[in-house]
Amino acid sequence: MTTIANNLQQVNDRISQACQAAGRARETVYLLAVSKTFGAAAVAEAAAAGQRAFGENYIQEGVDKILVLREMVPYALQWHCIGPIQSNKTRLVAEHFDWVHTVDRLKIAQRLSDQRPAHLPPMNVCIQVNVDGGDNKAGVPPEEALELALAVAKLPRLQLRGVMSIPEPYPEFAAQKAVHEAAHAVLERIRAALAVHADAHSAPWDTLSMGMTADLDAAIQAGSTMVRVGTGVFGARTYPAA
Ligand SMILES: *Cc1c(COP(=O)(O)O)cnc(C)c1O
Repeated sequence: MTTIANNLQQVNDRISQACQAAGRARETVYLLAVSKTFGAAAVAEAAAAGQRAFGENYIQEGVDKILVLREMVPYALQWHCIGPIQSNKTRLVAEHFDWVHTVDRLKIAQRLSDQRPAHLPPMNVCIQVNVDGGDNKAGVPPEEALELALAVAKLPRLQLRGVMSIPEPYPEFAAQKAVHEAAHAVLERIRAALAVHADAHSAPWDTLSMGMTADLDAAIQAGSTMVRVGTGVFGARTYPAA
């Protein structure tokens, strides 16, 4: 077994254990392998081991990889944009990715919807919420998330799927869990409002994107449905991106 295949098995085992501890079915948590800074060969190795969904932070790096992998592997891979998006990069994202986790401004969502090519299915998106403050952090404050979600839900070429968060890296399990629970609370508050506006929202509201290598267990305890794991799958990163 290759190192990446072995890592993937360990991460999947860890997810299974966390699900068991939380009394949840294993299928309720989806693994997104975060391949930023790693090359196409590493992604191909993970794909050969059965992994299908990959997350990228840097748009151009991600698009380059998407195009290479399309020729390189015989599987359909799913690509998630999990990094900040400037207005001048929305077209690249709309044309190449399947998901965007980092919608925190209506303007970006509008551009993604306008620029989504007609031959592709609607783009899956999550609202990024800044649950633990931090002025210079990406994400909408929790109290603004509902208004943004209701506006994004109306955009024709997007499917609003849920909430994403990147909290500060707290070392203790209890603190990790508490901040993830705050994101879960935002998800539930919006769920209730979307039910009232059901005519404007037909996509499944089913995604809580949170938890990384260091805190995925706490995130699963707090209700995460999609953990984004980089280091655990591919090993330590060296910056800057290659
Ligand atoms: C890099 C990154 C991850 C993965 O982090 P690891 O600690 O390597 O698992 C997850 N989510 C986002 C948004 C990231 O930027």
